[in-house]
Amino acid sequence: MTNELSELGVIFDALSYASKMHATQRRKDNKDTPYINHPIDVARMLVTIGGITDSNTLAAAILHDTVEDTEATAESIEELFGAAIRDLVLECSDDKSLPKEERKRLQVVNASHKSQAAKCIKLADKISNVRDISDSPPAFWTVQRMQEYLVWAGKVVDGLRGANQPLEELFDRTLETASMSISARAQSIDE
Ligand code: NDP
Ligand code: ZN
Repeated sequence: MTNELSELGVIFDALSYASKMHATQRRKDNKDTPYINHPIDVARMLVTIGGITDSNTLAAAILHDTVEDTEATAESIEELFGAAIRDLVLECSDDKSLPKEERKRLQVVNASHKSQAAKCIKLADKISNVRDISDSPPAFWTVQRMQEYLVWAGKVVDGLRGANQPLEELFDRTLETASMSISARAQSIDE
């Protein structure tokens, strides 16, 4: 097999595995959006905005929520995709044994210590989530909770800066648009 074929193979293997692992999950919105749409969105942005073609980075982007949110383990990712992709996925995974507030705090504190590839995946992840919060917010979230998420995401991204300028610029534009749209929503509720 040529290098190019095996690199494409890893990406499609990751799509196949992640789609099976996330099969029964939905995003937190009220449209019943399949969860897999989000990791696909993250990988798509790495290519189309970030100009990233490294197959390990793209496969890890597709797998980035499998260990955190599904039955997948670090061991299963290593067995199927190798240690380099496992390490990237773990860099993008919270430790679910910790309380939520601590996980949130650690994301801010640890962001600047991540590898460049993990920083890029996390940048695209935050763009995708901030956009989703504005366009198809989690059901039952108050405007205040949405605003708090945006502030927190901005703090995480401050630690990721320097990794990929186009992704950072897209995050900044997305955050601004989301802030305006959420403020407008708050105003319409007040009126
Ligand atoms: P959560 O971690 O509970 O939810 C956000 C995560 O859910 C995202 O990071 C994303 O993660 C995933 N997700 C799934 N569907 C969507 C969607 N449609 N749109 C966006 N994200 C989606 O939220 P937080 O705990 O971060 O809450 C945000 C803020 O609100 C925090 O600052 C927290 O302190 C505060 N808070 C407020 C509460 C309140 O009642 N006021 C209660 C709890 C928290 P992934 O990439 O893994 O898919
Ligand atoms: Zn994610």
